Amino acid sequence: GEGLPRPEQTRIIVVANQKGGVGKTTTTVNLAASLAVHGARVLVVDLDPQGNASTALGIDHHAEVPSIYDVLVESKPLSEVVQPVPDVEGLFCAPATIDLAGAEIELVSLVARESRLQRAIQAYEQPLDYILIDCPPSLGLLTVNALVAGQEVLIPIQCEYYALEGLGQLLRNVDLVRGHLNPALHVSTILLTMYDGRTRLASQVAEEVRTHFGDEVLRTSIPRSVRISEAPSYGQTVLTYDPGSSGALSYLEAAREIALKGVGVSYDATHAHIGA
Ligand code: ADP
Ligand code: MG
Repeated sequence: GEGLPRPEQTRIIVVANQKGGVGKTTTTVNLAASLAVHGARVLVVDLDPQGNASTALGIDHHAEVPSIYDVLVESKPLSEVVQPVPDVEGLFCAPATIDLAGAEIELVSLVARESRLQRAIQAYEQPLDYILIDCPPSLGLLTVNALVAGQEVLIPIQCEYYALEGLGQLLRNVDLVRGHLNPALHVSTILLTMYDGRTRLASQVAEEVRTHFGDEVLRTSIPRSVRISEAPSYGQTVLTYDPGSSGALSYLEAAREIALKGVGVSYDATHAHIGA
C-alpha cells in the first residue's frame, strides 16, 4: 500500500442509515479494503443478520461458524470469531450468521444489553487502526450496540429523492446515545454513494446534503458503477475485483480523505472523485 498516516488510537466507525439499499455494506467493505490497501490494519464487524458484508469479503458465515451472534449473546471473545480476509493483507472480519436475526429479541433480557459489543471490542487485544461496523437497516438494539461501541458515525447517502428523509431519526438516536451512554459519539462523515453527476437530481441532492451537513460531507463521492455491484458475487471487494475501476479509485480516495481528516491534515481535493 501507499501508506497513509495511522490514527493514534483505533478509530471505530459505525456505518449506519436505517434506510436499506443506500450503500452501507458496499461502503463498509470497500472502505475497509481501501484502508487496508493503504497499509492500515482493519476489522469489519458485520452486524447485519443478512451477512452481506461477510459474503462480500469472501468470509464463510454458514450457521455453524462462530460469529458476532456468539459475541453479543453468548459473550464469546471477539478474537474467537475474527477471520482474516483472503487476499487482503491487514483486513479482518467478524462475520454475521443468520441467528443474529434473533439477537435483536434475545438481547432485550440480557444485562448491559446496549454495551455488549463495546465490551467485546474493549477486550480485543489485537492492534487495529480501524474498526468498521456494518449496521442493519433499522435502529434496534444491534444498531444501538454499534453506536455505543463507536466514536464516529459514517452515513452513506444515496443521491435520490427523499435522501434526507428518515435521517432525523438516526440523528436523534445518535444524540440520545451520546447523551446517555457514549459522550464521544458524533457524526464524522457523510458519503454520497451511487452518485451520477450527469443527472440534475443527483447534483441537487448533493448540494442539499452539503448545505445541511457542511464539512462532514466527504469531497469524494462514489459513482454508480457496475463493477462495484458485481464484486460481492465473487466474494471480493472492488479493490481486488477491478483495482483500476472508477469504483475502486473512488473508495481508495474516500479512504485517503477519511485517514487524513482523522489526523487533522487538510485534504487536497485535486483527486477527489466527483462522480461519473
Ligand atoms: P445497504 O447495505 O445500505 O442495504 P448495499 O451496500 O447492500 O446497501 O447496496 C445496495 C445495492 O446497491 C447492492 O446491490 C449494491 O451492489 C448496489 N450498490 C451499492 N453501491 C453501488 C455503486 N456505487 N454502484 C452501483 N451499485 C451499487
Ligand atoms: Mg447492508
